[in-house]
Amino acid sequence: MSDPIVYFTDLRSKVGYNLLDKTRKLFEKSGFADHIDEGDKVAVKLHFGEAGNTAFLPPMYARVIVDEVKKAGGKPFVTDTNTLYKGSRGNAIDHLETAMANGFSYATLGAPLVIGDGLIGLDYITERINGKRFKEVKIASAVYHADVIITLAHFTAHELFGFGGVIKSIGMGGAAPSGKQELHSDVLPVVDSEKCTSCGRCVRWCPADSINWKEGEPAQIIETVCIGCGECTVVCTDGAIEVNWKTDIPALLEKTSEYTYGVLKNKAGKHLSFNFLFNISPDCDCYDFNDPPFVADVGIMVSTDPVAVDQAAIDMANRAQGLAGSKLAELDAKDKFRSVTGIDWEPLLSHGEKIGLGRREYVLEEVE
Ligand code: SF4
Ligand code: SF4
Repeated sequence: MSDPIVYFTDLRSKVGYNLLDKTRKLFEKSGFADHIDEGDKVAVKLHFGEAGNTAFLPPMYARVIVDEVKKAGGKPFVTDTNTLYKGSRGNAIDHLETAMANGFSYATLGAPLVIGDGLIGLDYITERINGKRFKEVKIASAVYHADVIITLAHFTAHELFGFGGVIKSIGMGGAAPSGKQELHSDVLPVVDSEKCTSCGRCVRWCPADSINWKEGEPAQIIETVCIGCGECTVVCTDGAIEVNWKTDIPALLEKTSEYTYGVLKNKAGKHLSFNFLFNISPDCDCYDFNDPPFVADVGIMVSTDPVAVDQAAIDMANRAQGLAGSKLAELDAKDKFRSVTGIDWEPLLSHGEKIGLGRREYVLEEVE
């Protein structure tokens, strides 16, 4: 079997040939229009961005894909799922309000917005898989029932995954909140009482009310209630909460590969995945802030193989120039994502390959 192709374009542009043209060219090169049948319902899966975040992928890139899907005869809709944590996207009403505020609407996208798992995240379909971690997964119903899925992932570092690209976007982003909870359940953060300033911020953000706190005293996580979402590790600006990742993160990564496998199970030959490697921030777009990018912009890539496109993305992003003034302390670190997050992301890709989600060897084809 030949290695999968990852089509890549850098970010150089000129009069008459801008980044949207380059995105369109990548779609054309992929040949994916031939995989869309007349009348196919096409989920364009992306991240609408948390309120306050400005690093998410702007809507004009999705507009390009929506237009191409229509040209191919498909019926596109733009979608994401409700979050597990407290924030501005925890139910369909808040989620759509946030999407509109961030510039995503029928007017800008040319397609309807659908929150894939319904009003409160209970609309999902259970799909059977034969994984090491899961025998069944809970997939947002609109994602499940779509004939085609095209994923547009903004590539970033991630405090639990090491990096967030296509596999995380499909696996975590295609899961209903109860599925997200199953994915996160192996993660156990701990509070360093010496560093805790008792600000209470983690308490306000925790979706499971699993943090005991009294003003003036260090916070304490109730292990039996914590659902392992990891949100507190990021909102604690004093660095007082760390994830016990040495034992738990590999499980999360393997589980996410299996969820991605489950989401794509009924879409053989009907899925395409983009990674957008610019504005590469040290945390994902789920936070209400974004720290400056820590590596230089790289480009845009697309493949029908979700493992290959994530492997190519982490390879190229790690080779990019580290940026001074960012969270990256070792500017020339070989693995800049591991340097920023402390996470070994390997199991996401190695397990993905093992279960047949895709291949880590790829052919990079540059597109002008
Ligand atoms: S204590 Fe547990 S449930 Fe609460 S924010 Fe932290 S990881 Fe999530
Ligand atoms: S956010 Fe950090 S410093 Fe503030 S109470 Fe929670 S653990 Fe302590």
